[in-house]
Amino acid sequence: MNQMITNHLPTAELQALDAAHHFHPFTDRNALAKKGARVITSADGVWLKDSEGHKIIDGMAGLWCVNIGYGRKELARVAARQMEELPYYNTFFQTTHVPAIALAAKIAELAPAHMNQVFFASSGSEANDTNIRLVRRYWQVKGKPEKRTIIARWNGYHGSTMGGGSLGGMKPIHAHGGMIEGIHHIGQPDWWSEGGDMTPEEFGLLRARELETAIEELGVENVAAFIGEPIQGAGGVIVPPSTYWPEIQRICKKYGILLIADEVITGFGRTGNWFGSTTFDIKPDIITIAKGLSSGYQPVGGSILSDDVAEVVAEGGEFFHGYTYSGHPVACAVALENLHLMQEEHVVEHVANVAHPYLKARWDALRDHPMVGETKLVGLMGSLALTPNKEKRAKFAAEAGTVGYKVRERCFANDLIMRHVGDRIIISPPLVITTAEIDILVERAKKSLDEAYKIVKDEGLFVSA
Ligand SMILES: *Cc1c(COP(=O)(O)O)cnc(C)c1O
Repeated sequence: MNQMITNHLPTAELQALDAAHHFHPFTDRNALAKKGARVITSADGVWLKDSEGHKIIDGMAGLWCVNIGYGRKELARVAARQMEELPYYNTFFQTTHVPAIALAAKIAELAPAHMNQVFFASSGSEANDTNIRLVRRYWQVKGKPEKRTIIARWNGYHGSTMGGGSLGGMKPIHAHGGMIEGIHHIGQPDWWSEGGDMTPEEFGLLRARELETAIEELGVENVAAFIGEPIQGAGGVIVPPSTYWPEIQRICKKYGILLIADEVITGFGRTGNWFGSTTFDIKPDIITIAKGLSSGYQPVGGSILSDDVAEVVAEGGEFFHGYTYSGHPVACAVALENLHLMQEEHVVEHVANVAHPYLKARWDALRDHPMVGETKLVGLMGSLALTPNKEKRAKFAAEAGTVGYKVRERCFANDLIMRHVGDRIIISPPLVITTAEIDILVERAKKSLDEAYKIVKDEGLFVSA
C-alpha cells in the first residue's frame, strides 16, 4: 500500500513533494511552496486530523459538501460493493443501470413536485455547463433560437469551467481565460456593502428590478434564462433581503424566462429544508445540484428539470450532450446511500430544529464583538461582516481581504476551519454538528476574532476607508 507509506512521511517531505508536483486549484503556487500546505490525513464527524496530529474542527464541511460528516463507513461499504458489482457503465447508448435509476428516482422524490427528471454530471461546474446548453436548446425547440442570453449576478459563483466561470460574476475568474458569449450580469443583493441608505427591503427590490431592466435592454426575444444561488455561497454567504426572490420570481414569470436555481450549496439540507428553493419560496425550472448530494464522498452533480423543461427538450429529439461519467454507478450508489442516511437520521430536521437555533443565538451574539457588524445564518450557512465602524457599515482602509485574512490565519492557528471572502468570514459546517461541537466552533471563532482584532489594532489597520 504505497499510499500508507506516503502517509507516514514526515510533514516537511510531504510538503516538498506537494510543492514539486501538485499544482493546486485557486492557489498562489509559489506562496504556498514557501509556506507548505497543511496535510490532512484523516477525518471523523466534524473533525479533521493533520499530519502534525492537530484536531481541527471543520467549519466549512470541506468545500461546503461533507453534509453527513466524515468517516461514514456505510458509504465506504456501498462504494466497495458497487465497484465489485459494476464499477462503470455508461448511460449514453440506450443503456442504464440500477444506481442511476435509483438515485434519479430518489432526487425526484425529494425535489419540488413539478421537477421529476435528472440529468447527471460529475460536478457543479459541469452541471451548469449542461444548463447553458439545456436552456438554449429549450428555446430552439420552441422555435425561438435567438433566445440565448443568460442573466446572472456579479459576485455569483457557478463553478470554474468556461461555462460555469462565465455565469459566475467574479472578475478575477473572467480575467483568467475570458468568458463565453451570451452571459449578462446584474448587481448582487448584498445590502451590507452596497445598500447605502436604503432599507434592506428597498434594496432587495432595487436589485431584483435590475433583472427587469436588463431584459428590457437586451430584448426579451434574446433572453433565455436567469441563474442565481438562493444564497450566494462563495461570494461571502450573502443572504438576500426578503423582497428579492419574490420579485425575481415575478419578473421571470412576467417575461416567461427560465429560472435556474443553483443549489450546489443550498441543496440537500443546508438551509434547513431539502432545497433552498423551498426556504425562499422559489419555483425554479432547473435546479443545479452537486456537493451535498453525495456529501462529497464521490464527485457527482446534475440538473433537476421541471416537467416543462424535460418535455420541451425531449420533443427536440436527441440532445447532443453528456459526460462519460454522467450517472457514474459508484458515485450514484454513494449519493443514494448518503440521502438514505440523511432521511433515516433526520438530518434536515436536525438542522432546522436543533443545530440552526442553537448556533443562531451564539452566532448573533458575535455582533457584540468590536470588529463584527452584520451576522447572518440561514440553516447552517453563516457569515460575519467585519468592519471598523458598525453604524456606518464602513469598509477598512486597507485593501479588501487584508483583515479577513488575518482572522482566517488566527482560525488556522486555533484549529478551526473558517474561510474569509474579502472581509466577510463564512461558515458552513457539516449538518450533523452537535450542540457541544457548536460550542467549540463558536469559542474558537471568538478567540480567533479577539486575537485578530488585537493584531489589526496594533498594526494600525482598524481604520475606515
Ligand atoms: C461549488 C459550486 C459550484 C461548482 O461546483 P464544482 O463541483 O466545484 O464544479 C457551482 N455552483 C455553486 C453555487 C457552488 O457553490
